[in-house]
Amino acid sequence: MSLAAKPRALLEGQHFQVVVIGGGINGVAVARECARAGRRTLLVEQNDFASGVTSRSTRIIHGGLRYLEYGELGLVRESLRERETLLRDRSHLVHPMNFLLLLNEKSQHSALKVRAGLWLYGRLAGKRPGPGATEMESKRLERALDAGRQWSVFSYEDAQCEFPERLVAEWLTEAIDAGAVVRNHSEALAVDVCHGRVRGVLLRDTITGRDERIDAGWVINCSGPWADRVCQRSSIRVEKPMLGGVRGSHIVLPRFSRAPANAVYTEAVDGRPIFVLPWNDQVLVGTTEVADSSDPGKTAPSAEEISYLLRSVAQLFPKAKISAQSIKYAFAGVRPLPYSPGGKPSAITRRHILHDHADDGALHMLSVIGGKLTTAASLARECVRKIGVKVAEPKAVAVGPGAALDPFLDEAILKIARMGSVSEESARGMVEWHGKRAADIAHMALVSSELRAPICPHTSHVVAEVVEAYRRECAVTLGDVLLRRVPVALGPCWSETCSREAALRIGAVLGWDTHALGANLESFETERAAFLRQPARSTTAFEAAAD
Ligand SMILES: Cc1cc2nc3c(=O)[nH]c(=O)nc-3n(C[C@H](O)[C@H](O)[C@H](O)COP(=O)(O)OP(=O)(O)OC[C@H]3O[C@@H](n4cnc5c(N)ncnc54)[C@H](O)[C@@H]3O)c2cc1C
Repeated sequence: MSLAAKPRALLEGQHFQVVVIGGGINGVAVARECARAGRRTLLVEQNDFASGVTSRSTRIIHGGLRYLEYGELGLVRESLRERETLLRDRSHLVHPMNFLLLLNEKSQHSALKVRAGLWLYGRLAGKRPGPGATEMESKRLERALDAGRQWSVFSYEDAQCEFPERLVAEWLTEAIDAGAVVRNHSEALAVDVCHGRVRGVLLRDTITGRDERIDAGWVINCSGPWADRVCQRSSIRVEKPMLGGVRGSHIVLPRFSRAPANAVYTEAVDGRPIFVLPWNDQVLVGTTEVADSSDPGKTAPSAEEISYLLRSVAQLFPKAKISAQSIKYAFAGVRPLPYSPGGKPSAITRRHILHDHADDGALHMLSVIGGKLTTAASLARECVRKIGVKVAEPKAVAVGPGAALDPFLDEAILKIARMGSVSEESARGMVEWHGKRAADIAHMALVSSELRAPICPHTSHVVAEVVEAYRRECAVTLGDVLLRRVPVALGPCWSETCSREAALRIGAVLGWDTHALGANLESFETERAAFLRQPARSTTAFEAAAD
């Protein structure tokens, strides 16, 4: 069995019926749909798959209760349908989650309005509201909240995908299995337009520096917040910008004492909606809305946003004594929302738009604007219909409130543990992150104790998962692996020591020499520091936050 990654295919001069630019959740979903329909498809991503907005989101799979306020019934209905499909088809990655909506006497929403909204939300989901949070859970939460306020607690069901990076990796391998050619670390330098029609794309492999030109029948621009830039560098003149970027930031805290076991949806210090979510054995708090037209690849949370999120969560849970020192890291992403000058960011539609560039002198090119993790699959179906591919809607499903994980999960975990001679905890990790592929990874783990070893002393995820990432899931760098395919570096106790230990254990299996080990480690730490920001830990920062 070869542990090496497959060599990257040469593309120069090849013809593809469809070229998809951008390997976020939307681009991967579109490429998968095109390949399944038998179209010769190429997907190119300038960095790594899911390294853009997709891994910088709040990670909720939801209908969007908030969108009801703006009359977006169609969007809510579509999102709820997609949520149910994901809960059914990806139950190892997408889990039902109970949300507790909190109001107090100062809230900008009345209890009556919230009750009506929740009733409508349940109706649009096509089912009666579930049992929701038990009284005990609500009481437990109320004990942790600011006792000086009068709280009303409402509950509803939505879902969470803790690792959209993993969902993207699964869809990516499905696209490859259906015949798509995929290349990360490959930048589309320009779309070649001749006599008003798209002819090809000029690419640069950012690992080797090699440039290649390929022919294209259709180009689908799924570059998220980069969409206008792709047009500008291709000299495609669009009448007005397609995008108005709105940055959203999050902070990640360790699980504090009495941290909610359910998702909390409430108002921040200024009355904006905010989530406090249990995530990856930590607490995720977000988000903000700040207009941002700078380079989306360099976006970072500002000190003001961090302070705002900190004040909001600290005020909500005063007994937890959350301070600036508590923050593990902060990260930000730019929402690729439709251009809407002067519009209130929260009021800008979250519905996606497919911009046809025929009127811009580039026949056979589409740009995808906006969208949500939740609706990526339905967006992809709509997109491929636009280019003449027939694709049916999946059958409607109703997973039902409070749906549990696969009842055979525990049995499957025991089987995988035996198969790979790994601990039950490691087997659970494999099943939860790799679904049906867990059995193959377990088989691989059986080969040697190095492959069965945990990636670092704090995790139960094993080196065999890393090899799978390089071999089958197109990982190229250590960052591709530890931040996205096997995202252990997002965990609660990751440190520089873990990075070093992980690189040593992975390098031993892949045969890295000292130079390769050093280079992999250095580029990983640079990427980690740029993505997961360490906010200033000075007391001044916290005093500002606590005012
Ligand atoms: C703060 C925040 C919170 C969110 N929370 C949620 C949520 O809870 N639930 C939900 O459903 N949605 C949420 N969203 C929305 C969701 O994350 C995005 O709509 C979705 O991830 C967009 O995916 P995408 O594929 O369009 O963009 P991206 O993931 O950004 O992918 C675009 C890709 O294109 C690549 N690219 C750019 N230029 C080029 C080029 N020239 N050549 C090759 N590749 C290129 C980029 O590197 C990038 O990887 C949130 C968004 C934000 C910002």
